[in-house]
Amino acid sequence: ESLINRIAAGEIIHRPASALKELLENSLDAGATTIRVTVKDGGLKLLQIQDNGCGIRQSDLPILAERFTTSKLSTFSDLSKLTTYGFRGEALASISHVAHLSVVTKTRTSTCAYKALYADGKLVPAQRGQSEEPKPCAGNDGTTITIENLFFNTPTRLSALRNASEEYARILDVLTKYAIHNPKVSFTCKKAGSSSPDLGTPSASTVRHAIKMLYGPSIEKELVQVMVKEDTKHEESWSSEVYFTNANYQAKKMVFLLFINSRLVESSRIKRAVENVYTGILPKGTAPFVYLSLRVDPRSVDVNVHPTKKEVHFLNEEEITTQICDALQAKIAERSH
Ligand code: ADP
Ligand code: MG
Repeated sequence: ESLINRIAAGEIIHRPASALKELLENSLDAGATTIRVTVKDGGLKLLQIQDNGCGIRQSDLPILAERFTTSKLSTFSDLSKLTTYGFRGEALASISHVAHLSVVTKTRTSTCAYKALYADGKLVPAQRGQSEEPKPCAGNDGTTITIENLFFNTPTRLSALRNASEEYARILDVLTKYAIHNPKVSFTCKKAGSSSPDLGTPSASTVRHAIKMLYGPSIEKELVQVMVKEDTKHEESWSSEVYFTNANYQAKKMVFLLFINSRLVESSRIKRAVENVYTGILPKGTAPFVYLSLRVDPRSVDVNVHPTKKEVHFLNEEEITTQICDALQAKIAERSH
């Protein structure tokens, strides 16, 4: 059974960056305004994320890392999350099957923090013979999740991820994208033992400023914003915000950030459509930077998308994509005159 769990977990948590994405979304869901990430060996030895969000109640800790059970469903999941992302409630459970997971958390109303350790979905004691009950400890409001020795029990997975610097680059990439989408939140990322962060953003910033900070000032000069909405007098069912530059001087390939309902997702169809807008209009050796944030009715997102399938689908995808690309094209034409 544990082998099956590990295999299932490996389909959700592919690498340190996919664990980080899940943890970031949890911290943002918890209303964090500060998120600090610490990494060792590309996240394989250590991946720690500290937030100042709402914290987890002591009474919820025993089922925190359970697979999607009825109790977990009713305790943790609100319906909007469920309708948006189908298979939810599996991140911490999955991580606990393929790593050493510990949680230190404190809610605003609790007088102290609690520390809990998990393995294979369940609370475990810190030392043999001790109780697995979460222990009171000192701590600030918020939650610190620590993942150690990721894939220690799945050696084939581990050996496929030998390049720590590549894993670290992917971690920074995920963080950079979330930092742009959440400019009011302060993010930092550093290697364990290092005093200076490799990534740091201020709180209360703007999307524009965050893009400039993280992708370079040359992009900011060129950056154009467009808002595209459903064209209707009735209540709109979708809206989008796009920031783009004609030429990204730093990359040969398009930099494309896609968020749907605040989740970083991939859609090769949308990406291709956006790329087509630029075909033939850019000087050789340059590529665009595009950040696209789309809001659709959560009920229209494909609830059957399993986390293993990174591609997201939603209702009226083609029509919405066409309208966004048309608006983009019009804006580009307008600027070149
Ligand atoms: P899901 O996010 O899909 O519910 P997870 O396994 O990622 O499943 O997390 C389970 C639950 O644990 C969350 O719903 C949330 O209530 C709680 N949780 C996880 N991380 C945090 C955090 N950083 N701050 C507050 N609550 C958290
Ligand atoms: Mg989650």
